[in-house]
Amino acid sequence: MPAETPPEHPAAPSGPALLLSGARQADGRAVDVRILGERIESVGPAGSLSAPDRLDLTGYLLLPAPTEPHAHLDEAFSATPPLNPCAEPDAGGSAEALQRRITEAALSGLGYGATVQRTHVRIGGAHGLTAMTAALQAARALHGLMELQVVPLPGTLTGRSGAEGRAALREALAMGAHAVGGCPEEDPDPDAHLDAVAALADECRSPVDLHADLGDPRRLARLAAVFGQFPQRVTVGPCAALELQRPEDATRAIDRLASAGMAVVLLPQSGYCVAAGRGPGRARVAQRAPVRRLLAAGVAVAAGSGALRDLANPVGRVDPLEAAFLLAASGELDEVEAYERVSGAARWALGLAPVLVAPGAPADILAVRGDTLRGVLSGGHSRVVVHGGRVVSRTSAVREFADTTAPAVPRQGRSGPVPLE
Ligand SMILES: [Zn+2]
Repeated sequence: MPAETPPEHPAAPSGPALLLSGARQADGRAVDVRILGERIESVGPAGSLSAPDRLDLTGYLLLPAPTEPHAHLDEAFSATPPLNPCAEPDAGGSAEALQRRITEAALSGLGYGATVQRTHVRIGGAHGLTAMTAALQAARALHGLMELQVVPLPGTLTGRSGAEGRAALREALAMGAHAVGGCPEEDPDPDAHLDAVAALADECRSPVDLHADLGDPRRLARLAAVFGQFPQRVTVGPCAALELQRPEDATRAIDRLASAGMAVVLLPQSGYCVAAGRGPGRARVAQRAPVRRLLAAGVAVAAGSGALRDLANPVGRVDPLEAAFLLAASGELDEVEAYERVSGAARWALGLAPVLVAPGAPADILAVRGDTLRGVLSGGHSRVVVHGGRVVSRTSAVREFADTTAPAVPRQGRSGPVPLE
């Protein structure tokens, strides 16, 4: 009998318990949270619970950990001068270099609290399956710290020239891709592109995650017809051109999205990302899908970051609180609605159950220094991230002011270092 191969990533031990003490929940109550293994065992008033390991989170707010539903980690940090939004994306070099880039980018998002992230990666053509291989290796290496989902982003899938793309997409699914990706607006035959994606997803019973601008009412109608009430989850983003449709067309389009049951991922940082933002004129379409109208129609709307210092947004970062901040700062949503877009709704778009700060729930928590959701969206520098029952990241910010009676270079602040929210 062959020796049993040990699992690459053994399950987290069930003990000892970890206590997160003294933090506030969104309703203002100060609580203790005891974690056993990968789950929250109990939640009680502050001071009521104990455990061998204790982390004092007095002054912090506990939130269900957010999720990044739409990133392009294989193209992260590629915004080196000269910037040209119409340029072909950087193929990224070797699999090893790409894995380092993807890992660094994913850890950046994890530090902000995104314990689950979905990245699209280019496949086919010059990219082959190099980025797919690198991203899946990064996902395996990051297991335990976070969950990284990988979705292939093909080019042409139609006609004779699309044969290689169709084969690459099929191979990416076999390698372990989390959904069938597609980008109809980059294909000479967008309708046939949608059909090819649907056929493969149907055959593999796989979820679908599409790039689309949705600026063309006919294209959107086709999308809704092909994927309406699809058995698996269908997600589409960033839909940046939806608002460029004539008002009556946009209303019809939003109703179609709602009745089709698709999830929409919008990108508040810039409205578009590498795939949707490329091509002459595209980069100027810095629009954002009309989130209020989509929600009113019953569409499941999530928000993501899209770009991390790449050609689509050279200053972009994978910070879910920033995506929520932008939705709240623009007045489109209140802070609770905005955070739901990067937490519960983002997990739904990825086919995941919601997480809660409640007994029995997976211990995926973001603790942010501050008292209220409104406060942490406007500040929120110091963060503690818990994934799978383990503290996986800590960021502490300290602010000091100069003592003007002291030498020009301060050795000590007026009243010592002040923890920065
Ligand atoms: Zn994208």
